[in-house]
Amino acid sequence: MSDSISRPSPDAALERAYALAREFLAGLPDRAVGARMDAEALEHALDGPLPAVGEDPAAVISRLAQAADPGLVASAGPRYFGFVTGGALPAALAADWLTSAWDQNACLHAMSPAAAAIEAVAGRWLVALFGLPATTSVGFTTDATMANFAALAAARHALCARKGWDVEAEGLAGAPPLTLLAGECAHASIFAAVQMLGLGHARVRRIAADAAGRMLPAALEAALAQAEGGCIVCAQAGEVNTGSFDPLAAIVPIARRHRAWLHVDGAFGLWAAAAPALRHLVRGVEGADSWTVDGHKWLNVPYDCGYAMVRDGAALRAAMTIRAPYLEASGARENGHYVPESSRRARGFATWAALRSLGRDGVGQLVERCCALARRMAAALRDVRGLELLNEVVLNQVLIRFHPTAGDADAFTRAVLARIQAEGTCWFSGTTWQGHAAARISISNGSTTAADVDRAAAAILACLRAERDGGSRNAGASR
Ligand SMILES: *Cc1c(COP(=O)(O)O)cnc(C)c1O
Repeated sequence: MSDSISRPSPDAALERAYALAREFLAGLPDRAVGARMDAEALEHALDGPLPAVGEDPAAVISRLAQAADPGLVASAGPRYFGFVTGGALPAALAADWLTSAWDQNACLHAMSPAAAAIEAVAGRWLVALFGLPATTSVGFTTDATMANFAALAAARHALCARKGWDVEAEGLAGAPPLTLLAGECAHASIFAAVQMLGLGHARVRRIAADAAGRMLPAALEAALAQAEGGCIVCAQAGEVNTGSFDPLAAIVPIARRHRAWLHVDGAFGLWAAAAPALRHLVRGVEGADSWTVDGHKWLNVPYDCGYAMVRDGAALRAAMTIRAPYLEASGARENGHYVPESSRRARGFATWAALRSLGRDGVGQLVERCCALARRMAAALRDVRGLELLNEVVLNQVLIRFHPTAGDADAFTRAVLARIQAEGTCWFSGTTWQGHAAARISISNGSTTAADVDRAAAAILACLRAERDGGSRNAGASR
């Protein structure tokens, strides 16, 4: 039988994408860090009626890159300090391209033995790197939010099973009581996970924290003494504003004593466990029951990539396994039994490549270098009139606030920050810390250099001066 449809070659589109990607990456350190256009303006370039007739693939790629460019943020670049954002290591980025070309479905062993094997291996490497119990199971999730979801689902399973209740089958109506406890400064994603699990985010008991955002062990002890039913304690390694760590060495024995499930959200802070000079910050972490960490933050793997790690792998599998007669389990690792999704990207390849290209020492050096640069940034901003350093820089986060010569420091802080964001040398975001406006600088990209930090610090100081000198006159124009 002859076939009138010719198989289109991907070569021209891939070559166009390769050229455009190289151009983008080469310009990344020098382009304005913030976007030059907002989504509303960009829609004009990207919109229009869906063409009735298809276009040449390479032409589509050119058009896409051209239209999207003004709305791209240089978040993979060396002076993006927003949120907690890693760049992309060369090996991880290249592996991610191959992942798209291979287009494997990572759900079942039968769909891709390579995807099953890579997640098994990369998962073991991560567990060893963080010094967690060797039996720990790892699910490769989209992000830390879904890793928190998967880990807390495992916790829910285990605590219900202890009382003879099959929560996956029977649900929560009539289930034995569960109490969730989380620190005052727990990340919002914990509450997102809890609400999806049917445990109610408003029912989470908040445990008091100290001025740096660290959970107070005595407050946890008191709350557990009063709590009803099975308890899940959510501790944190790396608070998003200050980078501070809950005192895990004190929390672990308390959780143990009360037979609570201890989960550690270490989306970025758990990487301290991989850095010899910082490991003391997570002392005791291996005594928890589950851990969350992101690959797309400090490992500098492209989006998306998180890891749910659970000591009792059977609990994670019980909570996540998908069952259907046509989805026959092979006896080998079924990646889909460790995460909420079924069909998904084989994100283990990029993690394996990142870990392999850095090596154990390289991961530690990347993390330690970012922390040294955060201290360098803090030193450049310390003792500046009108600039207040709000945290002790224990990790990679620098929290600052600006003060006008007279007037409202909250409004002034937001105005200086808007000026910095518009100026383009660097970019970071605002927050509210202890009731006041603040700005958080996060250094999480392995390609950031001392020169980048010095350039950014100079731009921050120049924006502070400009806002103080002519703020009221020019504030509108700078936004
Ligand atoms: C960033 C972060 C999260 C959420 O990470 P996503 O990957 O965006 O889901 C959760 N917890 C902590 C402590 C974080 O820093």
